[in-house]
Amino acid sequence: MTQMQSAVSTISPDLVDQFSRTISYLRVSLTDRCNLRCRYCMPQGVDNDVEGLPQIDLLSYDELLRIIRIAVTMGMNKLRLTGGEPLVRPGVMDFIDGLSGLSGLNDIRLTTNGVLLADKVDVLYEAGIRKLNISLDSLKPERFAEITGVDCFAQVWQGIEAACERGFQVKLNAVAMRGVNDDELEDFARLAGKMQLQVRFIEFMPMGERSSWEKERFISAEELQNRLALIGKLERVAGSRIDGPARIYNLIMDDGRSGKVGFISPISHHFCDRCNRLRLTSEGRLRSCLLHDRETDLKGLLRLGGSDLEISAAIRQTILNKPKGHTLEEDLAVTRRGGCHGRMSRIGG
Ligand code: SAM
Ligand code: SF4
Repeated sequence: MTQMQSAVSTISPDLVDQFSRTISYLRVSLTDRCNLRCRYCMPQGVDNDVEGLPQIDLLSYDELLRIIRIAVTMGMNKLRLTGGEPLVRPGVMDFIDGLSGLSGLNDIRLTTNGVLLADKVDVLYEAGIRKLNISLDSLKPERFAEITGVDCFAQVWQGIEAACERGFQVKLNAVAMRGVNDDELEDFARLAGKMQLQVRFIEFMPMGERSSWEKERFISAEELQNRLALIGKLERVAGSRIDGPARIYNLIMDDGRSGKVGFISPISHHFCDRCNRLRLTSEGRLRSCLLHDRETDLKGLLRLGGSDLEISAAIRQTILNKPKGHTLEEDLAVTRRGGCHGRMSRIGG
C-alpha cells in the first residue's frame, strides 16, 4: 500500500461556490445494489423488483478513478465510498487500493452496512482507510432482520468488532424511527460508552419516489437529545468543519462511563450553510445537494469523449450551481410527504 499524501493547504478558488462554501468532499456511490433491503431505503416489494442498474449504466472503475482524479486535481481532498452497499461490488478492494495512490487525496472513508466487513478489515486498513461508518438500526437480531429484510445481525456485529479491534475510527449510524427502534436509543448511547466507537442518530428522511417515510415515524434530533439527557450529561464537543453535519456530544452517564454520541438533523436543523459536499451517483451523475434532484451527467460527458478539462469544467459548474439550501422541512409542512425523487441507494446517503 502506498502512503497517503499530505493535505492540500491552500483552498482552490475552483472549489468555492456562490455562497462562499468550499466544496472539498466527494461522496461516491459505487453501486446501487445491496445485500440488504432496509425498509426506509429499499423497501421489500418496492425497489427489490429492480435488481440494480445494468452494469453498463454504472461507472466502470476506470471511469470512477478518472473522475476522482480530476476532482482531486481540482483540490478536493476527502472521499467517501458508499452505495448501495459498496462491498458487494466485485473488484472493489483492488479499486480502493488503487485510490490510495492518488496524490492529494488524504482522507478516504467508507460507509457500509457491515455484512461483508469482517474479513476485509485488514485489506481496508492496508489501503489507508481509517474511518468507517457502519449502519446499524437495531441491537436486537430479530428486529434487525425485520428492518433490513435479512437475518444477519451476527455478521454485522462481527464486522463492527473486527473494525474496532483493527483500530478503525468507527461511527455507528442509526436511523431513528418512532415505533420501530426508538426504544433502543438509550442502549445505543450506552454502547458508545462500552466500545471505542461513536454512535450517531440520523433523522429519517423522505427519499425516493416510493419512500416509506411517514411523519408519525419521524423523530427530531432535538427530541432524541432530550431523551438522552435523561440518562446522563451531554457536553457538546467542539465541532470541526471536517466532521461534517453531525453535532457531537460527550455523554457522561450516571454510572461514570462516557461515550460520544452525535445527531444528524438534515430535516429539523439542516446544515446547508456548512455543506462541503458533492455526490457522484452510481449512474455517474454529479449531485450538489442530497435533497435536490438537479444533477450533472458526468458519465454522458465522459462517454462522449469529454476531455479532463471539460470534465473539470462540468464539476466547477455543478459547484457553482449548488443551491443555498434545501427546503424539505417547509415542503413537508405543506404536503406531509414531499422529499426528493432520487433513491438513496443510488445517491449514497
Ligand atoms: N449500504 C451502506 C449503509 O447502509 O451504510 C451505504 C449506503 S446507505 C444509502 C448510507 C446511509 O444512508 C446509511 O447510514 C443509511 O442508514 C442512510 N439512509 C438510507 N435511507 C435513509 C433515509 N430514508 N433516511 C435517513 N437515512 C437513510
Ligand atoms: Fe442497503 Fe444501505 Fe440502503 Fe440498507 S441503507 S438498503 S444497507 S444501501
